[in-house]
Amino acid sequence: MLRIDASWRIARPGETRRKGAAAKLDGGLIAAGAASMPSLAHAWTALVDAFSRHGVLPLLQWLHLDKLAGDPREIAESLLIAVAQVAIIAGLFRPLETFWPAERWSDRKLTRVDRQYTLWMLLGIFPLFSYLVLTPFANYFGGVSSGPDTSSRDSILGITHWFPVLGQHPLALFLVYYVIYDLVYYTMHRVQHALPWWWALHSMHHSTRQMSCWTNDRGSLVDGFIQSMILAVVGLAIGVAPTDFAWLMLLGELVQNLSHTNTRLHFGPLFGRLFVDPTFHRLHHMRVDPARPGLHNCNYGQVFSIWDVLFGTALYGEPVRPTGVGDPVVDADNEQGLVGLHWAAFKRFWGAVRTLDGWKPGEVSFGPGYRPVPVEHAPASSNPGPLPQAQVD
Ligand SMILES: [Zn+2]
Ligand SMILES: [Zn+2]
Repeated sequence: MLRIDASWRIARPGETRRKGAAAKLDGGLIAAGAASMPSLAHAWTALVDAFSRHGVLPLLQWLHLDKLAGDPREIAESLLIAVAQVAIIAGLFRPLETFWPAERWSDRKLTRVDRQYTLWMLLGIFPLFSYLVLTPFANYFGGVSSGPDTSSRDSILGITHWFPVLGQHPLALFLVYYVIYDLVYYTMHRVQHALPWWWALHSMHHSTRQMSCWTNDRGSLVDGFIQSMILAVVGLAIGVAPTDFAWLMLLGELVQNLSHTNTRLHFGPLFGRLFVDPTFHRLHHMRVDPARPGLHNCNYGQVFSIWDVLFGTALYGEPVRPTGVGDPVVDADNEQGLVGLHWAAFKRFWGAVRTLDGWKPGEVSFGPGYRPVPVEHAPASSNPGPLPQAQVD
């Protein structure tokens, strides 16, 4: 669900600082097979440099942020990639919702807040967070300013420590990294559902009754911060510089934007067991079905569905189901705007994290004072009613 884009772009500064945006393209686009199109790579580099010089840098100077750690070209590139991402969501995924919807809506009122939030996140919050928090964080753990190279590439956890041959194959190394990252995400996502204080935050992602191409980025900023830190530590520990593969990372993000799209598109029986598609992820977002109360605990994968297949949490072949949550306290998110959503998630989090019950794994709803209440003991009013049918053709 959450775009951990910022932590992907975290610099292993010993490398990224030396290379910069141009080398990122050489490492990313060209390694990805675009070596035959060097002019495209150069055009991109020129665009990044021009936008950095004439757009980002003056803005940072105006905000008095230019003296802080970080390369303005990193922000310029993040922003340009974000613009490309928004264009693909709006130009490709959004039409799928009109012409080939999974669920028919009489209006799209509830999707507006997610669209607004996505624009804020992609064009403002992620680039700034990456620049102000994650880059200094990476610098602190092995950056150029920390003396001798403490590169985790040579650490016992580094992938190339165990498979030195991958050091010569940057694309293969990145793919191994991506698979590990996705497994860490899968594990973390299961904990987000199991630990009540974390569910208090993650439930904001699930509360929308209109899951759309804009929903991927819907999530509490507190949750995003926690996830970014975990994934950044993993990234540093296994020692790959994901900044080299900005375009491949965009691909991963687009898979997630597509998987939230309200469309009946699916990848078929074989491909669908490897990659997450819209049908698969829609089932993860289904409302609790009182008749089959455990059914919604499924399909936690982010990009690869293979983890769900391997660990027995995959669900296929169910008809389209309405999305959202059964707990009325969380469902009230649907009446909130951007700030209200965050405030509501934070109140749940604060109500849960201070109690012992907030740390006991299990499915909860939220009772008085936002205290977590095990679902089987929830007051009658918070038991979900019969599951409505999704409006489909
Ligand atoms: Zn999701
Ligand atoms: Zn989830």
